[in-house]
Amino acid sequence: MSVLSWIRRRRMAMQMSCAEVGAVLQQYLDDELDDETAPLVEAHLEVCRRCGLEAATYADLKHALAHRAEPSEESLRRLREFGERIVHGDVPHDHR
Ligand SMILES: [Zn+2]
Repeated sequence: MSVLSWIRRRRMAMQMSCAEVGAVLQQYLDDELDDETAPLVEAHLEVCRRCGLEAATYADLKHALAHRAEPSEESLRRLREFGERIVHGDVPHDHR
């Protein structure tokens, strides 16, 4: 990737906050976002490690469900962590 396109990607990524990306993540993975929002989410996921990880977890689970396969051990572990955080009242919030 050239420096210029990297800067352009970064600028796109900054147009959405983590909370905004989180709110539309499911739609993004289901290909339900419009042509303006989808590239912004995509750019954000590339740049933001945390949202990228969350997206990868969802995508993996979605894939496993669609193919009736076992989700990866890594995704299951992360899902358990999400669950435990919610049980303990530590609901994930805006981690910007
Ligand atoms: Zn983010």
